[in-house]
Amino acid sequence: MTGEPGRGARTSYLAANWKMHKTVAEAAEFIDGLLPRIAATRHDVVVCPPFTALSEVVERSRGSAVRVAAQNMHEAESGAFTGEVSASMLVALDVEAVVLGHSERRRHFGETDEALARKVPAAVAAGLEPILCVGESEEARDAGQTEAVLEAQLQADLAEVEPTDLARVVIAYEPIWAIGTGRTATPEQAEEVAAFIRDVVRQRGAAADDVRILYGGSVKPANAAELLGRPEIDGALVGGASLDPADFAAIVEAAA
Ligand code: PEP
Repeated sequence: MTGEPGRGARTSYLAANWKMHKTVAEAAEFIDGLLPRIAATRHDVVVCPPFTALSEVVERSRGSAVRVAAQNMHEAESGAFTGEVSASMLVALDVEAVVLGHSERRRHFGETDEALARKVPAAVAAGLEPILCVGESEEARDAGQTEAVLEAQLQADLAEVEPTDLARVVIAYEPIWAIGTGRTATPEQAEEVAAFIRDVVRQRGAAADDVRILYGGSVKPANAAELLGRPEIDGALVGGASLDPADFAAIVEAAA
């Protein structure tokens, strides 16, 4: 870990969530465009392609700063779960991390906190770095329920993770009202919530100062520096703006 001022030993973490975008050929083109642009970075740069492009991105990124994450996994080792993929299958591809609990998976695919309570420790046990997404709806924020919603998600999703393993979990604060909407939380809002999340993690007896807490929700080159300049915000999970290598590289650069 390189460490940065005001951030203790936490290395900045920039993750590109491609969602259901990019064929294998398009993924290859992206990596070829990204690598020269981030050659000098000291940050953790993580690309999360769809399952079909994982191998291509792993192979094309070898020897670079880029690490690869899947966008989902099943908690079981193997079994009759048609359409699912296990942690060990991802590890066998040299995938190093996995996004869990993204609001799109919670909303469209019924991913529950009960499932996440099994997935997060299964990822850790397999040696994958979980990128756990939590966030409140607009209605919850308007009703003053942001902290209650986040605390409930964190307590449930991290319940089976040993306190000594919590620093291996990356937590992404993604207010649902800011994802893919063009609306961004203000740096003050994002930092306030990140500090709250760190307090919740601390109550679990973890070394909370070692846990990376990201912000996600309409991060772009134009707003990245302000958000990433906040000491409690250790990086970003980027959707739309991560599809273009120049834009994503600019966001990585903004964290410098
Ligand atoms: C996301 O997909 O996690 C995300 C934050 O998307 P966007 O940057 O497009 O809002």
